[in-house]
Amino acid sequence: MELNRRDFLKGALATGALAATGTALAACSPAGGASGGSDAKATGAEGSSSASGSVLTADNYQDMKWSFEIPPEPVADADIAETYTHDIVIVGAGMAGLCTAVSAAEQGADVIVFSASSKPISRGGSNHAIGSKYQKEKGIDYSPEAAREIVKAEQTAGTYLMDKKKWERWINHSGESIDWTIDHMEKQGLKCCLEPGYTDPDGTITVPPASHNFYTDEQPFGALFGAPLEAHAYANIFTDDFGGEIHYKTVGQYLIRDNDNTGRVSAVVAQREDGSYVKYVANKAVVLATGDFSKNPDMMAKYSPWAWENFKDSLTFGDVDYDAELVYSGLMPGDGQKMGLWVGAAWQKTYPVPPMINGGASGPAHGVISNFWGLNMDIHGERYQNECTNFAYGAISVLQLPQKTAYAVWDKAYAYTQDEWEAFGCCIDYENGIMPSTPEEMIASWDAAATEGKSSIGTGATYYKADTLEELVEQMEGIDKEQALATIKQYSAYAEAGLDEQFHVNPDILYPISTPPFYATKITGATFLTVCGGLRTNDKMQVCEEDDTPIEGLYNTGIMTGDFYANTYNFVMPGQNLGAVCGTLSYLLGRDLAEL
Ligand SMILES: Cc1cc2nc3c(=O)[nH]c(=O)nc-3n(C[C@H](O)[C@H](O)[C@H](O)COP(=O)(O)OP(=O)(O)OC[C@H]3O[C@@H](n4cnc5c(N)ncnc54)[C@H](O)[C@@H]3O)c2cc1C
Repeated sequence: MELNRRDFLKGALATGALAATGTALAACSPAGGASGGSDAKATGAEGSSSASGSVLTADNYQDMKWSFEIPPEPVADADIAETYTHDIVIVGAGMAGLCTAVSAAEQGADVIVFSASSKPISRGGSNHAIGSKYQKEKGIDYSPEAAREIVKAEQTAGTYLMDKKKWERWINHSGESIDWTIDHMEKQGLKCCLEPGYTDPDGTITVPPASHNFYTDEQPFGALFGAPLEAHAYANIFTDDFGGEIHYKTVGQYLIRDNDNTGRVSAVVAQREDGSYVKYVANKAVVLATGDFSKNPDMMAKYSPWAWENFKDSLTFGDVDYDAELVYSGLMPGDGQKMGLWVGAAWQKTYPVPPMINGGASGPAHGVISNFWGLNMDIHGERYQNECTNFAYGAISVLQLPQKTAYAVWDKAYAYTQDEWEAFGCCIDYENGIMPSTPEEMIASWDAAATEGKSSIGTGATYYKADTLEELVEQMEGIDKEQALATIKQYSAYAEAGLDEQFHVNPDILYPISTPPFYATKITGATFLTVCGGLRTNDKMQVCEEDDTPIEGLYNTGIMTGDFYANTYNFVMPGQNLGAVCGTLSYLLGRDLAEL
């Protein structure tokens, strides 16, 4: 039976997914004017019965209905132009959907993929893995045993809210799955390398080289552009080696759940570019792999309010680009999450859904992904933290500051605190060493940035340079200059003494700011990448109802997987998303589906 409004509500009530009452069904869209994208119509449709003006209480707040919770009217059977029937229907041709497709097809499963994108897509390229053959070859000890401490640090950072069973599945199969990926990519002409690890002077968030990049001679920058190569390679393998079909420019609209919306999910209805409708019937499983919901303002406001408040002005809404790759203004509109909700899936348990952000105080970075470890100040010219952290935590600190603005100050001698400086995206080439910058090259890059006023690597920071600290501080717009000068002098005194009495930075990385010329940066805000989570998902990637019962026939994978992260994606295990949920868990899902 196809889904209609009544069925949806029944399902929602039966599962308790919505504490919906007759009144609640007519309740408001709380985002009001903020709605956009594909939800705009639904918001308008329900707007006439808005409960605006009513007061929220602990008893009634869950009765609110958001625009995205309202399913579309089902398409009449007569309007379905074509029907495809396969055992497994995968929705989305990103890394997660395509990895699942290849893994299942390789085991002989009958799989079809359709996607709203016009091609295989992905972005970035860091695939975190534990215990790959590549790491072993290079003598990097990163077995599940060796990873115990960093995993504990990560799970502590997430206050143990995340689903540790999914993590164990990843950790125990990470080596196997990345080796499988490496073998497939090599056959497609892609090479593998490793990004540098991160060495925390305090040891807390140290991680060995574990982010695998895929690259070619034509596109050597695997950390930023390797994932699209990988996605294309998976698509080629799926179609050429296993005869799979991928239908592009086909947008999933809603799921069909049998038995009055309480039974198995048996099909997806989608719309093609020419406006015609197509039905994909799944004998065994529908897999949603439709990405994040950062292009949906209402979902962001509801599920990730801290990120929404911080980034609503830098995200863009309206027309959705289903081919979005390396963009920083929002990716996907949450279609898969909505389709799941409409058939009674519960939302993930962790709240809010963690955003993936980075940035921090801008300056010479250690280990590529560090916050600037030297002096950081706020607009009051005061220090605000122990600076020695990575760029995700650095970004969170900046967002909590007055005017979300941070300054960094260092001197020429800072360039010589390392013999070589890693540049972003450099792979470790064990034959030729990493591709570092010398201290002189670092100074030249600061000089160039100060001349232009902007960082050449696109952090958005404003650069300043002066021969005296007084002149430097004079240039630093918006800072309390007198206090800043005093703070710089105090910081240098701590460094000279080898003891930071204020924030207790590790003395090994405390350097006085005393050798001209002097450099500074100013940065406001942080960089938003995506938001990581969605539907309630168990460790077998089954989508579940409110009481954790799996919905028969419905799976999801990739970044939309619920409860894999908590609090924030923190880059402590960089590339965990491509490596874990898009990689290992999708690979395992493909294997499991083939056995159904
Ligand atoms: C700039 C940037 C760089 C990043 N770099 C990294 C990195 O290096 N490492 C890392 O781990 N993470 C990185 N990320 C996070 C990254 O987004 C994810 O790791 C990963 O790409 C998500 O893959 P996915 O397959 O789950 O979703 P997506 O790649 O978003 O794929 C979703 C697919 O579903 C399709 N789709 C959407 N809606 C529908 C619909 N209604 N019907 C049919 N198809 C639909 C889309 O068109 C797309 O093909 C980065 C993010 C950004 C923004």
